[in-house]
Amino acid sequence: MDALSAKRLMTSLGRLLVGGLVVLTSASAWGQVSARLETADTELVFEANASSPRLMSLEAPGQPKWTNRSSEGLIPFVDISGRQTPISWELDRKASETGTKRVAFVYESAHPHLRLIWEWRAPQNYGPIEHQIRIENLEPQEVSIPMQDSLAFRWQVSSAEPLEHLFVEKGADTPSAIGTHEVALGEGYRWSGSSSTYGNIHPERPREIIPWSLVERMGTNSGWYLGIEFSGRTRIALGRAGDALAGEAGLDPDPAPFRSRLLAGDSFESPTVFLGGFRDGADGAGNVLRRWVRAVLGNPLTWKEPNYPLVVNNSWGGGMDVNDEIARRMIRDSADLGVDMFHIDAGWFRGVGDWYPNPQKFPHGLAVIAEDAHRHGLRFGIWVDWTQAGLSTEPGALNARDPRVRDWMVTDIPADWQPEPFKGQTIDLGVPAAKQWAEREVERIVTDYHLDMLEHDGYLVAHGCDRSDHPHAAPDPLNKCVYKTWGSYFVDSSNSTDVSYHAVRAYYDIYSKLRRKHPGLLFEICNDGGRMVDFGSAAHGDYFSITDTYDPLSNRRAFYDTSHVLPPAMLESYVEKWPTPRRENFRYMLRSGMMGWLTIMVDTNSWSPEQHAEAKSELALYKKELRPLIRDADLYHISARPDGVHWDAVEYWDADRGKGVVFAFHGTNPEEETHSFRLRGFERSHRYRLIFHDHSAPDRIASGEELMANGLKVDLPFTNSSELIFVERLDQ
Ligand SMILES: [Zn+2]
Repeated sequence: MDALSAKRLMTSLGRLLVGGLVVLTSASAWGQVSARLETADTELVFEANASSPRLMSLEAPGQPKWTNRSSEGLIPFVDISGRQTPISWELDRKASETGTKRVAFVYESAHPHLRLIWEWRAPQNYGPIEHQIRIENLEPQEVSIPMQDSLAFRWQVSSAEPLEHLFVEKGADTPSAIGTHEVALGEGYRWSGSSSTYGNIHPERPREIIPWSLVERMGTNSGWYLGIEFSGRTRIALGRAGDALAGEAGLDPDPAPFRSRLLAGDSFESPTVFLGGFRDGADGAGNVLRRWVRAVLGNPLTWKEPNYPLVVNNSWGGGMDVNDEIARRMIRDSADLGVDMFHIDAGWFRGVGDWYPNPQKFPHGLAVIAEDAHRHGLRFGIWVDWTQAGLSTEPGALNARDPRVRDWMVTDIPADWQPEPFKGQTIDLGVPAAKQWAEREVERIVTDYHLDMLEHDGYLVAHGCDRSDHPHAAPDPLNKCVYKTWGSYFVDSSNSTDVSYHAVRAYYDIYSKLRRKHPGLLFEICNDGGRMVDFGSAAHGDYFSITDTYDPLSNRRAFYDTSHVLPPAMLESYVEKWPTPRRENFRYMLRSGMMGWLTIMVDTNSWSPEQHAEAKSELALYKKELRPLIRDADLYHISARPDGVHWDAVEYWDADRGKGVVFAFHGTNPEEETHSFRLRGFERSHRYRLIFHDHSAPDRIASGEELMANGLKVDLPFTNSSELIFVERLDQ
């Protein structure tokens, strides 16, 4: 953490930790309004006091309660014409609502005239409960608001109570050596994790997290977790001191001071957060959350498709060199292999910002390629970096020097600037004209090229912005730094979070409209690899590229981390060419990307006939046996995180169907020919049939007790090899 963030964290958490009670619970003359919401996993109690609301407690049924000692901090002032104007919030009891699915406490301020809605929703009868704060400007003029956290709390904890904090990193460019952090949360703990669409763009800062955190009371397997449904700059902070565990979640207030402009009649909406209780450890929490994400955030049309997650063949194995002939050859081979979709990666277009087929490579355009894919029973998708401007002067191109477009860039581009082959300058989607252009452009691309899938990439969301005539807050001229990374310009200023707030909302709006217009169209979320893995993009896309590094270990690491919080069907691994002297190594390579959504990134025409046959049989197995489990089964992390040296494994178990599978991987250590994994989720007294797919051991019958207590023993003599052990319940 850099000095600035550390200082900010100390200041704001310090306020929560040391500040003491803001409002005491008591029956006052005002008369509080109390309410509760509950699901099978989460019970929340709320109270509205005269001037502020409070989450009173959180409970996972049957587990010790978490009591909150702090009211929600509502913004205390706004700026009007540069003057700070204090707010006095007053509860509007009549407008407030206390239902069984929604609780909304409404506060009003007469001068300045504002309304604030503090809302909690239970979208399902299980899992977490969502929370959002909405601030409406009822003034006849523009106001500027300071930071409003989505959620701040101060749980009362006993000082001796051992707690553990779990958080996971994004796979970003390459998964780090740790990825999944399980940290003792003791006295003096201070932590802040941030998320944006930039991953770890500042090498001196800690890696970004998927905006989610879980806290467990050690010894009880229970606790709570929270997550943020937004892709802009957000953060979660936690600190423990004395009898308090304080936390904050929402937009990232760093760099400070945050401001957001609200025109007359406009509203600010804090990123929605969800808060849930859990009982059965991190995987217990995950098995509820993953199902909840599918039901609440997922696209119902996508999940209705029996072949979701799809098997894809992507052209990037050959890099930018794709053309009509290569595409048609890959389509033929994809159809033979049993692939579901052909995906053209970067390289098909005339130039950055000029998203028309390159006439030298695709003389007949892209629609004919789409038709060829369709004729072969495949779907067709492409890569587009649609928020990037370049220098093409062709009609229809987004040219950074075009006077109509120039102001959409986050800063004035120097005269000598050149785009890279597939990266240009991000436009600020928060600008209405830029958003309109992008909306029309993606609509044109989807329609003209007959797309079934659209992948976005690059840096979709502007990073800071110089302009003072955009809807976001103006930058602070004294605290501003413009820098260039990977050919693009970025601005670090106090408005960076607000810039991302507006741009992300515009992006969500564009994709929501596109989805309505093209039901069944799939969206791949890729942002320079796995930098946009969060619950906001989960609500607007169908699957994620989880890392930009595609070897077996990186794929397994990114999957291990990300699958703690997101449905595995949404987690795409790209499988690239990798040395596979033995058939066992080839299977190991494929299977390292087969635990979620599988995309092959190799020109499969380069495979030998043996490899071809092997891949064909693995894909058939994926579609018939593995895909139903990836979609519907519970998932257990039954080993330590993969390190490539030792063994690792992931277990799927679908209790309804009585079927499951263990993906077991033997790393590079030749000494470890055998390993036992303790399985989870079984009935001790039931018997189960074990089927060793590669016949590394004879099939046999084992009791639940044996599998959970002693473990499932796997023997694999070769390094970099794997086995799939299918499990079937025999007793009902
Ligand atoms: Zn801007």
